[in-house]
Amino acid sequence: MSILGYAVSHWGDDPWARGSWSLIGRDGTPADRVNLGTPIGNRLRIAGEATHPTRAGMTHGAYEQGVVAAAWAANRRHDRIAVIGAGMAGLAAARTLTDRDADVVVWEARERLGGRTAGAEVGGSGFDLGANWLQQYDDNVLARLAERLGLRLVPTDFHDPVLLGDDTAGSIDGIEKELRKRLAAAPVGAGIGDVLDAWLREPGPWTERDIRRFVDAEIVMDSGAPLSWLSARYGFEPGVGHGDRWIVGGYRLLVEHLAAGLDVRLGQPVRRIAVDDDGVTVSGDGMHERVDAVIVTVPLGVLAAGAIAFEPGLPDPHRKALSRLGMGRVEKVVLRFAERFWPEHPGGYYRVHGPRENCVAEWLDASAADGAPTLVGLFAGPWLDELWAGTDAEIAARAAAVIRPPR
Ligand SMILES: Cc1cc2nc3c(=O)[nH]c(=O)nc-3n(C[C@H](O)[C@H](O)[C@H](O)COP(=O)(O)OP(=O)(O)OC[C@H]3O[C@@H](n4cnc5c(N)ncnc54)[C@H](O)[C@@H]3O)c2cc1C
Repeated sequence: MSILGYAVSHWGDDPWARGSWSLIGRDGTPADRVNLGTPIGNRLRIAGEATHPTRAGMTHGAYEQGVVAAAWAANRRHDRIAVIGAGMAGLAAARTLTDRDADVVVWEARERLGGRTAGAEVGGSGFDLGANWLQQYDDNVLARLAERLGLRLVPTDFHDPVLLGDDTAGSIDGIEKELRKRLAAAPVGAGIGDVLDAWLREPGPWTERDIRRFVDAEIVMDSGAPLSWLSARYGFEPGVGHGDRWIVGGYRLLVEHLAAGLDVRLGQPVRRIAVDDDGVTVSGDGMHERVDAVIVTVPLGVLAAGAIAFEPGLPDPHRKALSRLGMGRVEKVVLRFAERFWPEHPGGYYRVHGPRENCVAEWLDASAADGAPTLVGLFAGPWLDELWAGTDAEIAARAAAVIRPPR
């Protein structure tokens, strides 16, 4: 197995992300998402994926929240508006306001656009190290944009993955229904781990291994968070489903379209936002900007870490929301091989469990769309600490070794 090219994500230790997407912890509820996105007076509003009550953790949810925040600012007749962050939410807010003739500046900490959509070039083709799919495809505003732009979109069937390695599928019929019933009945304050432990102590029609593997695939892989922390009642949020499509060439094709003509200042981390009666002062490294209103779209993890000082401090509901929500960690790798050594499968999706419990990886086969043997891997669970150590070349080699032909 010879690796010709690779790209590796590092969301876990990225200071401008601090994880992959927001999640509801055991003390939280969806109301925390709503509270976080509630305007703070007339001049400050937090937007971004974490504020969406039903589409959190997804690009189209972020985009929708950016549009909502832009409408809020426009309705208050603010002339000069600062948007913090040039991810999907920030670009949506800035695009909407610019199209309504407002004076908008976007301050972005990184030297690139897109935030947690992040392009990588491997073997001359564009892939995604962040968001990959247009989820909830039929009801996704970015999917409609991608269609209008004529982008090439490839569906993935997540519900029929090929199991690779020494794995065999047990019967999972009914597990999801039973799990959802138990999670819905759990009190706020209980973690998914609590519900799982109680369930596994009872005799039942499924083996412990089959239940755990279902949870690894559907919850660990989809959250990247410890089950003991994740809210039983609200932590298993909607997302991946039938008909999701990925963009050949990557999300950057959407990002570049949305950012065209906007005033985006790259490499400008915002450190302080001070609101007074007459306006807002936004400050960064050697930068002080006076505006009428600010829309903050930085990731939840960045806010929770206190990377931006707010004056006056954030109100109680917002601070509580930051303490009850959190970020998971899902990492990705793109691997280009000299030749295919894994089986062909029309669904183009593979899953690997092991080598220990809670270790799960999923793989998208991009070979047909790309024209060369290429896999995009997603990793979550406790093994990330050992897999994602050392150089990117070492991580890529370890990730590749996980792919084993089916037994
Ligand atoms: C590995 C991975 C896979 C994913 N897969 C999917 C998927 O398949 N489909 C899907 O819909 N979603 C997916 N997501 C989630 C999706 O990427 C995010 O929900 C969405 O992009 C978030 O957009 P946002 O604008 O809210 O935040 P971001 O994209 O994070 O944008 C915030 C911006 O703020 C900037 N910033 C941070 N701090 C500062 C500061 N102090 N000053 C100035 N700027 C700052 C950041 O650099 C960033 O550009 C995935 C995410 C990851 C990490």
